[in-house]
Amino acid sequence: MTHSFNSDGFKAQPYWWDETARMDPEAGEIPAKTEVLVIGSGYTGLNCAIQTARSGRQTLVIDAEATGWGCSSRNGGQISGEIKPDYAQLKKGYGADKAFALIKEARGALDWLDGFIDSESIDCEFRRCGRFLAAHNPRQFRKLLQTAENQPRGLEQPLRIVEVCDQASEIDSEFYHGGVVIERHCSLDPAKYHQGLVRLALRGGAQVVSHCRAEGIERNSSGFRVTTSRGVIQTRDLVIATNGYTSHLTPWQQQRIVPIGSYMLATEATHRSRFEKLMPTDRVYCDTRKLVVYFHKSADGRRLIFGGRVSIFESDPVKSLPALRREMLRIFPQLEDVRISHTWMGYVGYTFDNLPHIGSHDGIHYAMGYCGSGICLASYFGNRLGLQLLGRQDANTAFNDVSFQTRPMYKGKPWFLASAVRYYRLSDRFL
Ligand SMILES: Cc1cc2nc3c(=O)[nH]c(=O)nc-3n(C[C@H](O)[C@H](O)[C@H](O)COP(=O)(O)OP(=O)(O)OC[C@H]3O[C@@H](n4cnc5c(N)ncnc54)[C@H](O)[C@@H]3O)c2cc1C
Repeated sequence: MTHSFNSDGFKAQPYWWDETARMDPEAGEIPAKTEVLVIGSGYTGLNCAIQTARSGRQTLVIDAEATGWGCSSRNGGQISGEIKPDYAQLKKGYGADKAFALIKEARGALDWLDGFIDSESIDCEFRRCGRFLAAHNPRQFRKLLQTAENQPRGLEQPLRIVEVCDQASEIDSEFYHGGVVIERHCSLDPAKYHQGLVRLALRGGAQVVSHCRAEGIERNSSGFRVTTSRGVIQTRDLVIATNGYTSHLTPWQQQRIVPIGSYMLATEATHRSRFEKLMPTDRVYCDTRKLVVYFHKSADGRRLIFGGRVSIFESDPVKSLPALRREMLRIFPQLEDVRISHTWMGYVGYTFDNLPHIGSHDGIHYAMGYCGSGICLASYFGNRLGLQLLGRQDANTAFNDVSFQTRPMYKGKPWFLASAVRYYRLSDRFL
């Protein structure tokens, strides 16, 4: 495996890859024909392929890069099963029943994922650790209180309010003003989980081919003719699982996905006791800012894994590292002397309604747009999509009939992002 070190001695690649190198399964010849072709080998694509392959459908998964090179091996490892819009927002747009169904199903996806990892014995450090959601100012703390006290009926979940005076039991940081513990939330090692999925897909009979970019799609009488960098493949069913890396290959989907970079760092390994003091529990952490940061201790308790969005424009993670480190030090000034060992980034797939989407357009199946909650939702949607391809009516989701919106003039390049980031920065300062 190659590492890119810079002069300061850190690696410009995900920390997770140190222990779990990207797999490059033996490709051999790519078949000229398959029943199911899945483009994208992350959580969505593999979970779909596991289902179709296990039921005997000839299934081929291709990725333009190494297997799982996208977000699925570079994320923060925090799992919520939450969708971005709250009940009141969804009710306004879709009515009370639909709002209820969408939230209920997304939350249920977390239980599904827990059961799936357990029943398939995927070794990926999965833990029901809980999350500390920290308030970045007293106003936001009051909002958290209100949210906890006014949970919609039937959608209540255990939330434990932590006043600022008790906060040291969760986090040793003067940056925050109390918060709430969401007991259900979980964590895992993203690359180990991904590797477990690759193994299940291969064992189920799927072929997984890396470094094979899909370059063109033509519809014909027996399905689709897909031109790739390694030859032409005829397939009956076609699945697009490219999420934040969706391109002009599928313009309809590209016009509905807003790719936004999220940036991460890992500190060098140090004494466990240092991080135990900063985060006495083993929870995952994030805060109430619109430009949210997220962090937790590594599984061995010796590093901090920290992520967020610090640059106005998309940037090289090495260039934006100083700003990301400054952000970490605002929360934990105690880490001034701790060196950084890794930095990396990836493109999160957002959508205009902040909801994930699953369905088909012009006969092409897709699932995408998890808005930063893809460990759980990409896995679940991939699984559902696979079952839907097999004709299983019970695999339909409450999300299947939600229209996948675009905006006039939007072609897939978020020209409005810099203004949005500036606006969010201001609102985080004053709201
Ligand atoms: C820094 C960061 C932190 C995150 N943190 C969290 C977190 O803590 N919790 C959480 O739930 N989610 C998090 N996410 C989001 C989560 O990782 C994603 O939602 C999820 O991995 C999406 O999986 P996917 O399979 O749909 O897409 P991806 O894993 O991104 O896979 C898409 C694949 O498609 C391939 N591809 C694209 N075009 C082509 C083509 N033409 N031909 C062949 N292959 C192609 C790409 O190479 C890529 O490998 C984070 C994301 C990032 C970037």
